[in-house]
Amino acid sequence: MRTGAYDCDVLVIGGGIVGLSTAHAITRSRPGTRVIVLEKEPGPARHQTGRNSGVIHSGVYYRPGSLKARYAVRGAAEMVKFCAEYGIAHAVTGKLIVATEREELPRLHALVQRGRENGIPVRELGPSQITEYEPEVRGLAAIHVGTTGVCDFAGVAAQLARASGAEVRYGAQVVRVDRRPERGVAVLTAGGDVVRARVMVNCAGLHCDEVARLTGDEPGVRIVPFRGEYYELARPELVRGLVYPVPDPAFPFLGVHLTRGVDGGVHIGPNAVPALAREGYGWGVVRPRELAGTMAWPGSWAIARRHWRYGAGELRRSVSKGAFLEAVRRLLPAVEAADLVRAPAGVRAQAVLRDGTLVDDFLIREGARTVHVLNAPSPAATASLPIGREVARRVLGLL
Ligand SMILES: Cc1cc2nc3c(=O)[nH]c(=O)nc-3n(C[C@H](O)[C@H](O)[C@H](O)COP(=O)(O)OP(=O)(O)OC[C@H]3O[C@@H](n4cnc5c(N)ncnc54)[C@H](O)[C@@H]3O)c2cc1C
Repeated sequence: MRTGAYDCDVLVIGGGIVGLSTAHAITRSRPGTRVIVLEKEPGPARHQTGRNSGVIHSGVYYRPGSLKARYAVRGAAEMVKFCAEYGIAHAVTGKLIVATEREELPRLHALVQRGRENGIPVRELGPSQITEYEPEVRGLAAIHVGTTGVCDFAGVAAQLARASGAEVRYGAQVVRVDRRPERGVAVLTAGGDVVRARVMVNCAGLHCDEVARLTGDEPGVRIVPFRGEYYELARPELVRGLVYPVPDPAFPFLGVHLTRGVDGGVHIGPNAVPALAREGYGWGVVRPRELAGTMAWPGSWAIARRHWRYGAGELRRSVSKGAFLEAVRRLLPAVEAADLVRAPAGVRAQAVLRDGTLVDDFLIREGARTVHVLNAPSPAATASLPIGREVARRVLGLL
């Protein structure tokens, strides 16, 4: 087929940080490659990328050798450099991971070990050293991780879009995909436009499994959306930096944490409750078709059976401010109910296998003339530059 029959070489679906980083990496690695990004919203970063904790994760939590560990460690350093180069708000603040119960101590020590295996500087602290960093925080022991920071990921996404040289079309929701081995990929948008490309990349975040199925590829996972609700701390002076609990290793969520963002405000959250729509930012947002899709996936029921106790605790903290306050007070005893002001929520795109396993690592799969990013939860914003390069490498191999 003649090159002229294509509108571009590579079509990226999704203008979040992963799609835009992919576009950026493609044009950097092979200048002259024509890239079009289609994003259904009127601007970049309207979903996960613009609704997260804004933390540049060090990589302390992740299994050594995993993509998460390798890309977070590398990506954190690159993210700081990228922000500095383009004047995007950021700071390397360091963070505390604090054990408040005896049974958390072995898990805290395991994190020290893991951090060292991942090459991350960690310092162990006793109760009095905790208050040197954070005067209002209480705990039995803690670790200080020096390379954690904060930044404006939406600003990073917008800059990646500009620097990529790609044509980014907003308000362009892909609703159909026609892929023919000898003729590339043609997509149809909700507005009736057709875009033809030699290769397509699926970075559709909360909708990535649906987009994969539009191409005819069976992703083998379903995205189960988990909402994370936040409060803003009315007395931000209670927290200097970033304070996290010891996470439960059975879940890819880090627990309710305190984060002072680049704007100086302190966010508390997120929890993890099932969302009733993929973009279900409140209990009132219900999309019956999407909900039916989640319920029809056997993995969703397996999660409910296996983790109902954890889920019940999260639901309680979602509907009861008192219960949420109780959880926060374990770390920050001085906090009062009046200090917690509701803030916008985010929804995580968590890929789940048929048997209910929550996919832990990043997951990138190739089909004919397509690359699908099927699991890019936290710390994918931190790791977005290395993820983009890896996706670009695979895409360029298909051209
Ligand atoms: C509550 C919460 C807290 C988090 N905290 C952190 C953190 O502190 N640090 C960190 O590193 N990570 C964090 N993460 C994870 C991080 O935000 C995500 O891993 C990252 O933003 C994923 O980027 P993405 O581009 O894959 O997805 P998104 O940002 O969701 O982008 C996907 C895009 O695809 C578009 N799209 C979908 N379907 C279509 C279609 N059919 N046609 C066209 N466009 C389409 C969507 O509109 C969207 O803009 C957090 C996530 C959440 C939800």
